Order: sequence, then C-alpha cells, then structure tokens
Amino acid sequence: MSQQQPIIIIGAGMAGLACANWLHRAGRPVLVLDAADAVGGRVRTDITPEGFRLDRGFQILLTDYPEARRMFDYGALDLKKYQSGAVVQLPDGRETTLENPLQQPLAAFSALASPIGTLKDKLLIARLATELQGQAPETLLAQPAETTLAYLRRYGWSEQIITNFFRPFFGGVYLDRELSTASNFFQFVFQQFIKGDAAVPALGMQQLPEQIAARLPAGSIRLNTPVAAVLDAGRTVRLASGETLAAAATVVATDGPAAARLLGAEAATTANLAARPTTCTYFATPGAAPSHGHKLLHLNAQPEAFAHNVAFPAEVSAAVAPAGQGLISVSTHGAHSLTDDALTERLRPELAAWFGPAVAQWWHLRTYRIAQALPVYGPGQPVQQPLQVGDALFRCGDWVAYPSLNAALGTGRQVAELLLGK
Ligand SMILES: Cc1cc2nc3c(=O)[nH]c(=O)nc-3n(C[C@H](O)[C@H](O)[C@H](O)COP(=O)(O)OP(=O)(O)OC[C@H]3O[C@@H](n4cnc5c(N)ncnc54)[C@H](O)[C@@H]3O)c2cc1C
Repeated sequence: MSQQQPIIIIGAGMAGLACANWLHRAGRPVLVLDAADAVGGRVRTDITPEGFRLDRGFQILLTDYPEARRMFDYGALDLKKYQSGAVVQLPDGRETTLENPLQQPLAAFSALASPIGTLKDKLLIARLATELQGQAPETLLAQPAETTLAYLRRYGWSEQIITNFFRPFFGGVYLDRELSTASNFFQFVFQQFIKGDAAVPALGMQQLPEQIAARLPAGSIRLNTPVAAVLDAGRTVRLASGETLAAAATVVATDGPAAARLLGAEAATTANLAARPTTCTYFATPGAAPSHGHKLLHLNAQPEAFAHNVAFPAEVSAAVAPAGQGLISVSTHGAHSLTDDALTERLRPELAAWFGPAVAQWWHLRTYRIAQALPVYGPGQPVQQPLQVGDALFRCGDWVAYPSLNAALGTGRQVAELLLGK
C-alpha cells in the first residue's frame, strides 16, 4: 500500500471521523470526503434565525459507551444530562413519573399503586440489572439473540410492564415499538442506561463530530464533495464532479444504501440495508416548556399515539433556545403518510391532553423527517460484519454492526487498526 497517498475516507459521520481520528493520531495522511455541507452525518444541529439549536431528530449520548469514552473530551463538550427515568403517559390517560427505573426499580415504581407493572416485574428489573452490571459490553453484544419482545416475555415480565414501560422506553431507543430489535442489543442498551448518563453537549449533538473534526489537519476534510465511484479496488476514488483522486486505500464510511451503491452488492452485504424512519417535530413556547421542573423524557404508552416521546431540550441545556423561550421536541417513530402540517395538527390535541391548553400557544418551528435513522438490527444478524472487503478497501458505520453511535465509532476505530496493521 502506497504511503504517499492519503487514505480516503468516504463519509464524515461518526464512523468516518473516528477512523480518520485514529489514523491521523498514528501519523497517517487522511482525506475525508462528504457530500453534505458539514460533518456529522446523522448527528447534525441546525441553528434557526430565531436562535434555536435543533438537533436533526431527538438523540442522546449514553456517556458510558466504551467508544465514546475513548473518543471524546467530555469536559470540553459541556455535557448536560437528562435525569434518569421518564414521565410515562399510560394507556388509560394517567401519568406516572419514574425516577431511576433501571438503577432503583423498587423505589422508582413504588410511587403509584403499580400502574406500570407488578412486584415481580420490579424484582426482575433489579435481577437483570445485577446480572448485567459487571459484564463487558462486548460480551453482551455477543449473546445469541431473539427479539426483545420474546426475550422480555421469556424473562418473565408481564404484558402490563411491557406495554407501559419497555415498549415506550426501548421502542423509543430502537425507533421500533414492536420490539423486534435483537435482544443482545437490548442487554447492551439496558446496561448502558444503568452505568452511564443520557446526555447532550450544551450546544447540541453536532458538537460530537465537530470535536473529532477539529483534531484533524486543515484541508483533510472536503465537504460538498459527493463520491460517485470507488475504482481500482480502493486505489482510486471518482467524485461526482468527475475529478479522480488516488488513494493508499479507501474506507467507505457512508450509510448502508450509499455503501451498497459504491461497493456493489458483492462487497456490501445486504443484511443491514433496511432502516427505521422517525420524524421529529419541534415547537417553541413563550416562557419555559411544561417540564414540571424535571429534566425527564416524556413517553407515551398509548398505542395509537403519534407523540411517542416528548423532550424539553432547553430545560436540559439553556443554550439551545433564546432566553425566555421554551423548546419542545416531539418524536413520532415509524412510517406514516401525514404531511408536516397534518402531523402537527394531529399532534396538537394529543399534546393538549398531556400538557394542557397552553399547547395552543406553542408554535411550530420545524419538522425533520429522517427516512434512514437507524439500521434494522434483528435476531440472527451478526453483531459485526467483516470490515475489510478488498486489499485496499474497507467499510465502517452502524449498518455493518448495530444501531448506535457506539457501533459507528467502534467500527471506524477498528478499520483504522486494520490499516495500521494492529
Ligand atoms: C433521529 C436519530 C436518533 C438517534 N438516536 C441515537 C441515540 O440516542 N443514541 C445512539 O447511540 N445513536 C442514535 N442514533 C444513531 C446514530 O446517530 C448513528 O448510529 C450514527 O450517527 C451513524 O454514523 P455513521 O457514521 O455510521 O453514518 P452517517 O451518520 O449516516 O454518516 C454517513 C456519511 O456519509 C456521507 N455520504 C453518503 N454517501 C456519500 C457519498 N456518495 N459521497 C460522500 N459522502 C457520502 C453522508 O453525507 C454522511 O455524512 C440516532 C440516529 C438518528 C437519525
């Protein structure tokens, strides 16, 4: 492999930036190409003319992710934490607040005469927490899997707690309220919620990729540069502009469908090409959002709801809204056929039933539709697919592993290690 040419990395999302970071630290020249106008891929934050900072879809960093701990300077990110737990709106319209449900299930679920689940359910959460606590995350991810729903039932939880807690909580993490996502990933995420915090950088999620990008030398990231083809088994990259670039090796760090176009069906196994969509509708309020003084996520257990989870980002980080205004993020998981306006009008009565008549004063800021938010990860899919697909051709990203920032960062690091011969 030529040492003079840079290693070309296609995609400046978390996987591509992680790969570039580790290669650069080892002294290897890198060139990162991205079609978009900024780094981050699916981790982007827009600043509106009014001064709101809107993440493109509700997203959090779990601070105990092993790859995130390796990568980020948490202090410089000025991380702001959500409280552990959730306010859950139950199918019968009642609302209950769960604080620390995974760390302290007996205390958390005791407030109400158990509308969430039975005593056995709470004891089972405590048991699973103890079982998972000391295990290595890789060990959990390597477990044989079934669907999360089958796992929860086999573990002994009642339908009541599955409907009232697991479906809205983990369905929100997976963007999959059917809980068809693989159970090894459930165990991993459950452990991560026990051991770490759910946090966001004070200025929004895009600060994560920006922090990595800032470590790379000037000129090593080219934005607005879509790649059309990878040629010569990874030694040449042709841009959409027609320009060709020589590479010591090429790393395809795009999302799955783009990788399939660049690598061809042979090199891009099709396992994770299916993806789950989500829609995030932002509202602004005059004055603070109705968070009841909590920094908790609000989850909706009602099966017909469109407002699946509601967050108040400015209560967690004041910097994401102009002074004196509140920000509300409403996530609708899965596919739907509503226009943005129709969805907003569909959400309002649901939100009014939850947060009261003040909802009429909220104004719609923006709607983000993310068609390919998370790769589908079901039972039987390998926790990681091969990262090297040719002598000088590699791939990384969540789609070759499981749907998480941890997977994107981890596969990027591992490709760098393969290239460095570690
Ligand atoms: C709404 C939402 C919520 C999420 N919530 C969480 C969460 O709470 N916790 C968590 O851990 N994970 C979450 N995720 C998942 C996490 O964001 C992803 O796993 C991760 O960002 C994927 O990074 P990546 O680098 O693999 O891919 P991407 O971010 O998709 O990056 C791929 C890059 O490739 C570029 N590209 C594509 N084609 C080309 C081309 N031909 N030429 C040049 N460039 C190209 C794209 O522009 C993009 O920048 C969420 C994702 C979304 C969308």
